[in-house]
Amino acid sequence: MDAATITTPTVLILLGPPGAGKGTQARMLEEKFELVQLSTGDLLRAAVAAGTEAGKAAQAVMEAGDLVSDDIVIAILRDRMAEPDCAKGVILDGFPRTTIQAEALDELLAENNQKISAAISLEVEDAEMVIRISGRYTCAMCGEGYHDRFKTPAVEGKCDNCGSTEFKRRADDNAETVASRLSAYHAQTAPLIAYYDSQGVLKRTNAMGKIEDIARDLEAIAGDAMS
Ligand code: AMP
Repeated sequence: MDAATITTPTVLILLGPPGAGKGTQARMLEEKFELVQLSTGDLLRAAVAAGTEAGKAAQAVMEAGDLVSDDIVIAILRDRMAEPDCAKGVILDGFPRTTIQAEALDELLAENNQKISAAISLEVEDAEMVIRISGRYTCAMCGEGYHDRFKTPAVEGKCDNCGSTEFKRRADDNAETVASRLSAYHAQTAPLIAYYDSQGVLKRTNAMGKIEDIARDLEAIAGDAMS
């Protein structure tokens, strides 16, 4: 499908370091506002699992905690945004991560007379990130997120959402890779906070608290941005 068919009324961007809770919060916003969560990390992991050319090029880079090339990520995002379900509006989780990606997104949206509704910066401290990332895991069936310390299933070993007993941990959620991912964030992604501030679409939220409190803040911001 080509980019000319893209019609996304709402475009929310979640900015923040790995472990800030972008995925968890995007899933909650997705449900609340009937938007579609687009995680470039998920799309890349699917490409790796499927053994596509993009996946083969991305695999080693992801395992090292570095950023995949802009060309690959922009192409994957562009294709996904052209799918019909994205017409409901999207929450971008993990994209853009570089200024080149941000500029490509601006162009893609402008081609379709769309614009960014809000870019929300989830503000957290690095030390907290390492704790959060090293304890997290997801349901292998439905993708519901859990954490060894902060969010365990109500019945041990059974997913609250779908009842599955299979869980998985990401290969790059280990202490060494987390350090590279945090430094990639500070060097290449954090400058996007100023980029979106200068466009007048930046919102900031303290993401150090409880999942439900952060969700409430984000719902308010998203609701305003969509009204
Ligand atoms: P995430 O699931 O967002 O933490 O992403 C996992 C990994 O996928 C990152 O550490 C990068 O290697 C890669 N990745 C995801 N999104 C992007 C992006 N927008 N640009 C470059 N690399 C990305």
